Amino acid sequence: MNKTLIQELIELLGPDSISTSEIERIQCAHDMAPVPKLLGMVYKSKPDAVVRPKSPEQLQQLVKFAAQNAVPLTPRGRATTMMGGAYPVLGGISVDMTARRGIIELNESGLTVKVAAGTNYETVLKFLSRRGLTLYSYPSSAPSATVAGWLANSAMGMGKAGLGIGSSRFGYSADSVVDLGVALASGEYLESVLTSGHKVESFLGSDGILGIIDTVTLKVRSLPLRQEPFSFNFKDIKELCAAVKECISLKPFFVVFEDENLLGFKKKAGLHIPQTQLNRGNHPAQNIVTIVLEGDEASFETDVNKLRQIIASHGGQELARQIAWAEWEDRFRAMNHKKAGPNLLGGEFTAPLGQLTEVIRLVNKMGKAKNLTIGIHGTLGVKEIVLMPQVLSDQRKKFRYMTMMSLVKELNDLSVKVGGAPYGAGLFNAFYAKQVHGAKYNELVKLKKQLDPHNIMNPGKGICHWTRFRVPLPKFAYGFAMGGLGLFVKHG
Ligand SMILES: Cc1cc2nc3c(=O)[nH]c(=O)nc-3n(C[C@H](O)[C@H](O)[C@H](O)COP(=O)(O)OP(=O)(O)OC[C@H]3O[C@@H](n4cnc5c(N)ncnc54)[C@H](O)[C@@H]3O)c2cc1C
Repeated sequence: MNKTLIQELIELLGPDSISTSEIERIQCAHDMAPVPKLLGMVYKSKPDAVVRPKSPEQLQQLVKFAAQNAVPLTPRGRATTMMGGAYPVLGGISVDMTARRGIIELNESGLTVKVAAGTNYETVLKFLSRRGLTLYSYPSSAPSATVAGWLANSAMGMGKAGLGIGSSRFGYSADSVVDLGVALASGEYLESVLTSGHKVESFLGSDGILGIIDTVTLKVRSLPLRQEPFSFNFKDIKELCAAVKECISLKPFFVVFEDENLLGFKKKAGLHIPQTQLNRGNHPAQNIVTIVLEGDEASFETDVNKLRQIIASHGGQELARQIAWAEWEDRFRAMNHKKAGPNLLGGEFTAPLGQLTEVIRLVNKMGKAKNLTIGIHGTLGVKEIVLMPQVLSDQRKKFRYMTMMSLVKELNDLSVKVGGAPYGAGLFNAFYAKQVHGAKYNELVKLKKQLDPHNIMNPGKGICHWTRFRVPLPKFAYGFAMGGLGLFVKHG
């Protein structure tokens, strides 16, 4: 964008909503994934301007302006993803939606809540809980993640969006969305996608490449009468996997586990490791699973008994109740051990639940072959498991860090081999868009052409991987580069 265009934009939106400050532009050139400087040169990740729309009217004016002047728009929530979805590749404008926040309307009889796109989940949960209500699901990044950011993120693909806390009972994040307000690339503002002739599901899990979500109407529910966490230790990760597979029949609200390598990272980071009482002595737990059950008084007690039976039949040991509550309290701190790195590198992918034991065996085999300690964090989805295998890394050791990035590709390939997919396309995993979106991939490609013919909405993402030169990077080039870097991993 040249100076004249920026000046026009300031006049259009007012100086309060637009920033060209170097610091703010640098801030918008990142999401949570640290990208080595050398690799960063391939993208124009620093936007020319950052715009924070404060109203639907301002958002519409911005999109019309961008369409008229062919300026790329990169929607952004809190940038807590690691797939590069909120990372500009062609400069242009970062559309920071966090000024569009707040509860717009609660419909207590219809059990829905309408919120502005940039509201974070924690705010919505607190607002609802004061009224005896809650959400069906939310991400474990709830204190920062925005409502639209989670729903736009392509994790499980178009029409499904994300998996998070509540998903093992209530399904994909998209399942609780009733309606959206969206600004389209044409400059049209759809106050209600539901009544517009477009499909709500098209805008969910499509990485913001079809439009910018401005408002979201979510289904809400009464707070459950009972909801409690239970934590268990397993000596053998295979038995933990078998127990997790079996406990799905209880429709748990949340299931999360960490293997012994991941607990080792926590220890290294100085975090407390729960203790088990074995042979009358205290020992650090080895592989921990925390399972949250909910229901009314009668069903809750029955389910707890069944859960304890399942765990015992696999040799698991129940940890003290205060440990389970502490693990549940920590649900928003899944990356606290990062400081042991000081960076974490790894993959995030899904696998069919039936493949859980096998996929963990394969990840551990990979770690052995590469002489790497891979810690595994897993959460249960609807009928799949989301795994986050990770290694401690240090971005300051530039070459080593670059070589370790090859691990992400190997983990992604592994997920595809077992019938899963990387958890989201964004920019860095867009090579796997067909696997991420599955049967919806062709529909998404068609919709992109229809709704955004000039490619201004988050260009170069989701269904393709562009560089700053507006050329898609072919998958074989990515495979070749990562394969080369991978050669250095074992002895790096
Ligand atoms: C500690 C931690 C825990 C996490 N736990 C989970 C989890 O349980 N489940 C899970 O799925 N993910 C999880 N994540 C990943 C991430 O936090 C979520 O996907 C999150 O909800 C993204 O929200 P955000 O506001 O940060 O979105 P961003 O990262 O800013 O954006 C995500 C994508 O959506 C697009 N986008 C953002 N806002 C809009 C909009 N208004 N309109 C259109 N497109 C938009 C962006 O361009 C980008 O492609 C976790 C991350 C961390 C760091």
